[in-house]
Amino acid sequence: MTAAQPSDFNWNDLGFEYHELPKRYRAYFKDDVWSAGALETDPEIKVHEAATGLHYGQNIFEGLKAYRRKDGGINLFRPDMNAARFNRSAARLLMAPLPEDQFVDALKAVVKELQDFVPPYGSGATLYLRPFMFGNGPVVGVHPADEYVFEVYATPVGAYYKGGLTPTAYVTDQFDRAAYGGTGQAKAAGNYGASMLPGDRAHRNGFSDVVYLDPREHKYIEELGSANFFGITKDGRFLTPKSPSILPSVTKYSLLEVAEEVGLKAEETVISIEDLDVFAEAGAMGTAAVISPVGSITHNGEKHVFYSETEVGPWTQKLYDRLTSLQFGDSADTFGWTVDVPLD
Ligand SMILES: *Cc1c(COP(=O)(O)O)cnc(C)c1O
Repeated sequence: MTAAQPSDFNWNDLGFEYHELPKRYRAYFKDDVWSAGALETDPEIKVHEAATGLHYGQNIFEGLKAYRRKDGGINLFRPDMNAARFNRSAARLLMAPLPEDQFVDALKAVVKELQDFVPPYGSGATLYLRPFMFGNGPVVGVHPADEYVFEVYATPVGAYYKGGLTPTAYVTDQFDRAAYGGTGQAKAAGNYGASMLPGDRAHRNGFSDVVYLDPREHKYIEELGSANFFGITKDGRFLTPKSPSILPSVTKYSLLEVAEEVGLKAEETVISIEDLDVFAEAGAMGTAAVISPVGSITHNGEKHVFYSETEVGPWTQKLYDRLTSLQFGDSADTFGWTVDVPLD
């Protein structure tokens, strides 16, 4: 009833808000099988009052984008990585695995159906895709659900940085996002619930987000809010944390390869919060912003400035340009990462 029409949008002035679109994809797991899946119109889902998704955290999600190319076609970027990660998340929370083909086909079906909502090439805006799954049906004791709902909804989102990449300030905190052996590697809804209080505290103190340190010693960098961290050393190494409690970011694994391509030496390693001096530049990586330059990190009341608090560094800009040009189909995809969405 209230679903948006393509003509409702000013593509150059989109933020990161939910807009109800006419269709979404849903599939239902019951009696040990997934339904074929179909496009549905109702944005509301019927959830059982005793659903494990409500009570016991059987609730996972993904996030990726559809990109309009110059030739009018539409790209997905490494959706197979999201499909595989989705099933690793499902396995960690003992939820029903979803065939990876069905995951990718669902994305394609949603994008094809909603193709007029994929913002035009050049606006920097994209169609954000949100696959998710939760346990449904009556379960009182703590054990996995017999029923699951899988959905992919879509909403147009604006370019994160409209006036070019801008550094922001981060701060360490005593809170942990996830534990070693916990659910940090899963894109579990509960991890986000746990991050809201520290995130809010950082925002109220004027920072864009929290630097989570390792949950055991609080010595090593884990994540920046809900993004992975990278630093580029003065001697040309692209370093990103290696830890059992961080979320394996598709953007991170892509930038590890792009970094090598542009002439950096890329490595996953432990990064001490006391060793920030080795870095010439730093950034946060994730689908939403691709790269957010890190201007500074404040730790124990001391502010460490990287390249600049106001300007993006040259390596960071180069990595951003190369990755976004691949996503939008502007440069030859030598990595084989983009997937064309058939539109008819
Ligand atoms: C989703 C997410 C990221 C970014 O992953 P991408 O696949 O690059 O979008 C990083 N950290 C956390 C905690 C996340 O949930």
